[in-house]
Amino acid sequence: MTFRATVLTLYPEMFPGHLGQSMSGRAIERGDVVVETFQIRDAAHDRHRSVDDTPAGGGAGMVLRADILAAAIDAASPASDPRPRLLMSPRGRPLTQSRVRELAAGSGVVIVCGRFEGVDERVIEARDLEEVSIGDYVLSGGEPAALVLLDAIIRTLPGVMGNSESGTHESFETGLLEHPHYTRPQDFEGRAIPDVLTSGNHAAIEKWRHAQSLRLTRERRPDLLARDQVEK
Ligand code: SAH
Repeated sequence: MTFRATVLTLYPEMFPGHLGQSMSGRAIERGDVVVETFQIRDAAHDRHRSVDDTPAGGGAGMVLRADILAAAIDAASPASDPRPRLLMSPRGRPLTQSRVRELAAGSGVVIVCGRFEGVDERVIEARDLEEVSIGDYVLSGGEPAALVLLDAIIRTLPGVMGNSESGTHESFETGLLEHPHYTRPQDFEGRAIPDVLTSGNHAAIEKWRHAQSLRLTRERRPDLLARDQVEK
């Protein structure tokens, strides 16, 4: 099944961006993933094709107009479109790996990229947009956030990663941060690979990795342990 992403943006040339490279690039070439863009400006109707206006109540910056954005959404994705409609937004629910998995299980996504101060609140309500944040910092536009979201989704799709095993043990998939990795050379500037990893004892290796995951999570992200129900 093809995963279809439709991105509404004022900067369509930013897509597919890095998604055109490497594993996601091959998925796009195979046709397993489609990343299409819709130029929001194409829904504007005045001579200057303007999409924004000054904020009601005053203040700095400009706001994307509800009527223009709604027309763009309706043109890019008819009401019968089953795909979730997302708005990249610092006010949104912070993106998690489990939400990524849920979105990847569907047929695709429609993503609205904000610009300026953001979008008129009424279009969020009227078109039932789910606001998604990629973290507690402010970008100048939703495009890099959309690329981050799509990157996270695409790499989980069946057949995209070479080794389908890799992925399931990774950070956040288990509710923990991932254990450290090592590879050759055996000695790097006097630092050796931990003995257990070269012992060939798979049970001991698993145990060591789990202990390292727990240690790192406790040190760096105790919030994940508090959130998680998994037996530690
Ligand atoms: N005035 C807004 C920020 C606007 S930033 C506020 O204070 O909340 C302009 C656009 O960049 C937003 O509409 C959104 O689409 C995008 N953006 C900025 N930061 C983001 C983040 N952390 N996650 C997702 N999208 C973000």
